[in-house]
Parts: sequence; C-alpha cells; structure tokens
Amino acid sequence: MQTYWGIDLGGTKIEGVVLSSPSPDAVVVRKRIDTEADKGYQHIVSQIAKLVDILKAETGYQPDHIGFGTPGTFDPARHVMKGCNTTCLNGMPLPQELEKTLGIPVTIANDANCFALAEATLGAVPEVVPDFRAVFGVIMGTGVGGGVVFRGKDGQPFVQNGLQGIGGEWGHITLEENGYPCYCGKRGCNEQVFSGPALQRYYSDISGENRKLKEIVERHYAGTDPYATQTIDRLLENFGKAISVIINVLDPDAIVLGGGVGNIDLLYTEGVERAKKYVFNEGRLSTHFLKPKLGDSAGVFGAAML
Ligand SMILES: [Zn+2]
Repeated sequence: MQTYWGIDLGGTKIEGVVLSSPSPDAVVVRKRIDTEADKGYQHIVSQIAKLVDILKAETGYQPDHIGFGTPGTFDPARHVMKGCNTTCLNGMPLPQELEKTLGIPVTIANDANCFALAEATLGAVPEVVPDFRAVFGVIMGTGVGGGVVFRGKDGQPFVQNGLQGIGGEWGHITLEENGYPCYCGKRGCNEQVFSGPALQRYYSDISGENRKLKEIVERHYAGTDPYATQTIDRLLENFGKAISVIINVLDPDAIVLGGGVGNIDLLYTEGVERAKKYVFNEGRLSTHFLKPKLGDSAGVFGAAML
C-alpha cells in the first residue's frame, strides 16, 4: 500500500505522520516526541530514528521515502544545513545522515516551504484553484517566511528550493534601508517591519507603551488609538509593497497568508488594495488571497507531501 510519511522537526518537538492517501482526513497515525535539542545533533538524529520506529510499529507499514520539515534550509552548494534556530543543526549534513540512518531516501524543506506545499495540495488552495500553476505561501508571525510551490509537467506540485536553497525567503528582502538591524546581518528586512514582534516594537516606539498585537489591532478597529492605527496602516502599506514584488515576479494563482499577523482580516481587503498600487497590472489584481486551512498541521502534512 502506498503511504505518505512526513516528519516535522521542531526545536522542542518532533512530529511524525503517516497518511494513507494525499488527504488531511487520511491520517493513519500521528505522533510527537521531544526533540531534546540540548543533547546535540547526534541525539536529534537518534530521536528521529526512534520516532520512525514508533510509526513503523504502530502502522505495520514500511516507508520507502520520508519528507522532512526542518528549521533553516539545506544548502545545496555546501551540502549542509544553514540558518537553523536549532543551532546544533547548522553546518551538519542532515539529509545524508538521515538517509544513512534510515536506509531510505529523504526530502527536506524548511517549515515555510512545507506550509506552502501543504496548503497548496491539502489545504486552502485546491477548492479555490484546483489547477493552480504557482502558489506562494507566507508565514507572518514571530518571523516572516515564504515558500513557492509550482506544478510540474507531471502534474505534481513541488517546492522551489532554488540553487542556494533560499527560494521563497520573503522575510529577508530589504524594505527599509535604514531600518532595524536583522539577525541575518542586514537592516530593515520584511521581518523587521511586519513580523508580530516588529509591529509591537513599532507601536512601542511611537506610543511609549507596550501592547500585544491583538490589542493593537482591536484598538485600531475601535478607532480610539491613533498609534494603533498608524501601526496597522504601516503594516498594510508595507505588506502591499512587499507582496507586490512577489506578484510581479511569480504572478502566482494564489497567496496563502499564515501566522498570527497573517490572520489580520484587513490584509485581505485593505492590504490587497495597497498591493494593487504597486503591482504592474494597471491597478487590477486577480490573485486569490487565501486564509490557511490546516492550522498547526501544515508543517507535518507538508513534509508528508514532499
Ligand atoms: Zn533579515
């Protein structure tokens, strides 16, 4: 029987799923164990092997391939991981090590790419644009990331990882040259302008008060706090500007907005209006902006669809 195996490697938990068909309703088993990342790289590899053994035992199936969602990306030029917030993975040949340990081929992609693939194949996109050619999935939350999914000539959707493994890295495009420094070494990246923490920081800078994003959004809707309105207006304008670049380059059929910031309804109305100003299409825009459907499951489902 054909099964689909996916593992989402997180900093605190490793989650695995086995699907009997490409559908969110076809879960045979789903399991989580602790990553125990503080015990180092080799321990993480052995935890993954342990989880695979558990999945095999509980399903009675053997995988012939496993997809992995990981923090950071695999650098195809240097054959090692980079940009992982679970830092002991950086510089390590994780996919090669997993193939050796598990004895089967693996495919890995970062969490934003898994999100994009999951929503494109099992989530929000199929019911609106079943025959899509390109989908851009973004996560706007604590950080900002993105993933590009194309449909191949064989009809199968695939993640565009790119020559350097940075395909879809929307979070680190420079938006404000003199903006806040970013951990990536540049300044004013998208992530430093409209991630959740960046929005809260901006509000604090102009108002002198600290508030959670949820509260800032509520105060904007209530129309009682000009600083909240200034913060949300800046979000919408910069979102429009930043997403217009993606539309001009890829012209995707659909864009799925994930994460806590992506959940702000105004992005789908006023945010899209702002994007129209910047897109090279005579003020028109027919791109579908979609809310994600899979929630926290997108990571592990996307891994299974690799
Ligand atoms: Zn950056």
